[in-house]
Amino acid sequence: KNEDMENAGGLPKRYAARYGVVLATGGYSRDLAFRMAEAPLQSEEMATRCHIGNTAGALRAALAIGARSVHTTLGRYGFYIASEDLRMGMVIDPKTCKRFIDESMPRTDLAVNMLLYMQKHRCIPLGIYDKKTMDAFFDHKRRQRLLFSNALRPYDTLEELAAKEHLDLKTLKATLDRYNKDIAGSLSVPLTEPPFAACTIEPDLSYTQGGVLINTRAEAISALDDKPIPGLYVAGEASAGVFGVTRLTACSLPDCAAFGMIAGEEIAKRARNIKA
Ligand SMILES: Cc1cc2nc3c(=O)[nH]c(=O)nc-3n(C[C@H](O)[C@H](O)[C@H](O)COP(=O)(O)OP(=O)(O)OC[C@H]3O[C@@H](n4cnc5c(N)ncnc54)[C@H](O)[C@@H]3O)c2cc1C
Repeated sequence: KNEDMENAGGLPKRYAARYGVVLATGGYSRDLAFRMAEAPLQSEEMATRCHIGNTAGALRAALAIGARSVHTTLGRYGFYIASEDLRMGMVIDPKTCKRFIDESMPRTDLAVNMLLYMQKHRCIPLGIYDKKTMDAFFDHKRRQRLLFSNALRPYDTLEELAAKEHLDLKTLKATLDRYNKDIAGSLSVPLTEPPFAACTIEPDLSYTQGGVLINTRAEAISALDDKPIPGLYVAGEASAGVFGVTRLTACSLPDCAAFGMIAGEEIAKRARNIKA
């Protein structure tokens, strides 16, 4: 549950830093103990595709010397299927064969509402697609991977889909008819053309917004007086406050690059001042 505290191996090393330290230690999606205390929604069962070094050890160390943290209850979620493609289908609870969510919601709202439902009803949702929607998938490579890994399972008929996915055919047909009528006039298209496919839909944690609050010079802000902590800089996912509730799609890497460069420039200026 907590790699930093439970891992007895490894070789501790100490470095002296004369001009400054940049924390570029990423997020904490893999740190169950930390993330669950901050956001119970990010439960133990929740999947993540983040690397195993995504722990909160460095964040805890910064907090221990008085850094201020913000947004630690927030997370950004992804799906195995691209969220643009997820929306083209109908999402149901396989136990009831009924819809429970508006598939067209923005990604974070969709994931959070889906997680709340999943935790309450103990289910893994299923997306239903047809030939037209699968042909129109935005991410073709990911569609191939989903087919290859059997996460996206095509069937010649709706009857076969219901039988193999253990769904109640009568309710599934009624839900699909209603969906096809309800979406008339929206951007979605009716699901009518075989093959039909079922796809497991499960949000996973791919980014944690929380971290050390920084200013526009990438300086860590003190919890005591909201002033910069001299010599401590934070860049990338380890920092926080650059984004609000929602981190926009694809905007983590520009954030990492921009504040990494700013932190470097600021330390160079600091080194010049200290030497002078
Ligand atoms: C599946 C997936 C898809 C994504 N897609 C996108 C995308 O399309 N666009 C986008 O902008 N972002 C995307 N992201 C998010 C983005 O990849 C990350 O936010 C970004 O890579 C973070 O970079 P970083 O340098 O801040 O941290 P990291 O790349 O996580 O690097 C931090 C490093 O510090 C090490 N470390 C941690 N703690 C310590 C410690 N105490 N001591 C020493 N070392 C430590 C870690 O092991 C790691 O090597 C995606 C993330 C995932 C999981």
